[in-house]
Amino acid sequence: MTQSSALSPVPSGARHAVLKFYFGPMDCGKSTLALQMNYNHGRQGRRGLVLTKHDRSGAPKVTSRIGLGLEAIEVADGLDLVALVTAHDRVDYLICDEACFYTVEQIEQLADLVDEHGVDVYAFGLASDFRSVMFPAAQRLFELADEVCRLQVEVLCWCGRPGQLNARVVGGTMARTGEQVVIGDTDDSPVRYQVLCRRHHRAGQLGEGTAPPAPSAEQPLQEDAEKAGVTLL
Ligand SMILES: [Zn+2]
Repeated sequence: MTQSSALSPVPSGARHAVLKFYFGPMDCGKSTLALQMNYNHGRQGRRGLVLTKHDRSGAPKVTSRIGLGLEAIEVADGLDLVALVTAHDRVDYLICDEACFYTVEQIEQLADLVDEHGVDVYAFGLASDFRSVMFPAAQRLFELADEVCRLQVEVLCWCGRPGQLNARVVGGTMARTGEQVVIGDTDDSPVRYQVLCRRHHRAGQLGEGTAPPAPSAEQPLQEDAEKAGVTLL
């Protein structure tokens, strides 16, 4: 065990599967890590499925902001994940991106897959919504996972502190109420999301120069243009 590395062959025979949850604010590299993990396991000859929901591309794909992408299975609310896996010949692991948007029942199914079917499950997602309230699926993952890891790929608030929370910005103002899931950061959406430190999330301070252009402005912010097509929350 001590001599194995990420690229060592996986020993055959009985092993305990694991349920791991990696969480962090948007832009912290969750999808990039999900894709990297899928690549590493694939190199070991393991077979996996990649699942996602509401990916930024708007398609059943896992895409990361640094440009990687992979076809994935879209997790609709009614999709039975145990049935999905058992319908396949052999599944050693699941990569579950955007797991915060799954249903609580689907998180239970992930635990069943680990315990009853020996499938390793690596879940990635946001912990909390724009109000800093935990998503139900994320909460269930916190309760059930063997391991929970906070990802901090140095997403910074405008003040320079580590960004921990997602703010929803509507018309230049931070929203405190509304639906838990609203697609933003797309061309035709008045909603955008911004990562803030806890202090400025609680104070509702978006920082100077970060306000979006007025609706009549001709040119979108460079940053918003780069995020065009991005799907978040
Ligand atoms: Zn701050």
